[in-house]
Amino acid sequence: MADVLLISYPPAQKPKDMQSPCPPLDACIIASMLETGGHTVAVYDVAVEESPLDKILASERPSIVGLAVPSAALQPAERDLAIIRSVLPGAKVVLTGQHVTGDPSITSGMGVDYGVRGFPCAGFTRLSEFIMQGIGSLEEIEGLVRHAGNKITLSNSKHAESEKIPFPAWHLLDIKRYNYFPIAGSLGCPFRCDYCRSTGPFYPWRDDYLPRPPADIVAEIKQGASLGISTFDFIDGVFTHDRKWVNDLCGLLEEECPKARWACSTRPDKANLEILKAMKKAGCVQVSMGVESGCERVRRANGRDITDRTIRQAFQDCRKAGLNARATAIIGLPGETSSEIEDTLAFISELRPAHAGFYPAILVPGSKLLDRAIKEGIMPRDAWTLYMQGRMQIPIYLPEGITREEISNYLKDAHSNFYNIPL
Ligand code: SF4
Repeated sequence: MADVLLISYPPAQKPKDMQSPCPPLDACIIASMLETGGHTVAVYDVAVEESPLDKILASERPSIVGLAVPSAALQPAERDLAIIRSVLPGAKVVLTGQHVTGDPSITSGMGVDYGVRGFPCAGFTRLSEFIMQGIGSLEEIEGLVRHAGNKITLSNSKHAESEKIPFPAWHLLDIKRYNYFPIAGSLGCPFRCDYCRSTGPFYPWRDDYLPRPPADIVAEIKQGASLGISTFDFIDGVFTHDRKWVNDLCGLLEEECPKARWACSTRPDKANLEILKAMKKAGCVQVSMGVESGCERVRRANGRDITDRTIRQAFQDCRKAGLNARATAIIGLPGETSSEIEDTLAFISELRPAHAGFYPAILVPGSKLLDRAIKEGIMPRDAWTLYMQGRMQIPIYLPEGITREEISNYLKDAHSNFYNIPL
C-alpha cells in the first residue's frame, strides 16, 4: 500500500524492446521529498513496467496519483486517467511534468484534480500534505494549478527551499532495467531559442540559470555509486555555460568519483577544447550539441545566433578531446526551404558526429514558436488539447510550401542515411 503512486511517462512512445529507457528523474525526486515527509510512495514507470496499471492501483490503493507527463505522452496519460477514475474514484489525480509546466490549461482539458508545475516540483509535497493531512492552504503551494471549468488559477507562492534537489528515490525502481541515470547540474537556461520553452526548460518562474553546488552533484553521484549506478546523463540545457563551475565540478569528480562516466548537452558556442579536455578527464564520454539548421540565416531567425564556423570548431574540438559528439537537427524551422533542409542534412554529415538525432519543430508549450504558429493561423490555440484527445497529430511547425508528409520523409531519410540503414 502506498500513500502516493507516481506514474511516469517516457517522452516518446516506442515499443518497449526498442528503447533504452531513461529512469524517471522528476517522479523519483518528488518521491524522495514525499518519503522525507514520512509518506509511502510507489513509482510506476510506463517505459518498463509490465504489470497492468489497474492491478497496481488495486494493490497500492493510493490516496493521490501523480502523473508526470511530457507533451508527447498526453494521449496515454489521458487513457490511464480513465482507468484511475474507475479503480480508485476517491483518489486525487495530480498532473506534473514538462507539459503542464508550459501549458497549465491542460489540467482542465484532461480533467485531473490539480496540476503542479516546475522542476524539482517541491509544490507536490505541499499539495500531498494538504490533501492527506489538511496541512497549509492551497494558496501557499508553489506551482499549483487549479481549475473550475475553463477558469485556471495559478499559485504565485515561492519558497526558497524549492530549488534544492534531493537525492532521487532510485531505490523505488528496478535499477537493473536502466543503462544510465539522469542528473541535474543546473536549473534554467539563460538563452531563448524560439523553439524551446521561453523560460528555460525546467523552471517556469525563474528565467535565469542556476547551477547546483558541485559538492551536491558529487554527493549525488557517490550515493548513486552506492546503489551500483555508474553512468549518468546531465539533463542541463547548456552544461558548459559557466566554465568556472564546470572546472570546479570536473576537479571534484576526478578526485572523488574516478569511476563515474557521464554525458551532457551544450551549445556549440559554449564549448572549447580546454573545457572539453577537462570534462574528458573527469569521466565525460559524450557531448550532445544542437546544430538545428545547416543554414546560418535560419538559425539566426529562430533565436539561435551561432555561426557555421563555431559549430565546425566545436565538433572538431570534441573529437580532439577524445569525446563522442552527438549532433541534433530540427527539420522544418520557420522560413526554411526544401533546399535548406538538404543543406542541414549535408552539414550534419560534414561534422562527422558519432551520433545524430533528427526532429521535427515540435510546437512546445511556452515556446515563441507555438505563439508564432497560433498568430499565423496555422495552429489552433488548443492544439495540445486536441492532440491529447486524438483529434489531431502532434503539433509541429510546417514552413510554407512543405507538408507534414515531406517532413516525415526527410526525418526517415536523415536517420537511415546517417546510420546507413536501408529503408
Ligand atoms: S535550446 Fe538549449 S540553449 Fe536554447 S533555450 Fe533551450 S535549453 Fe537554452
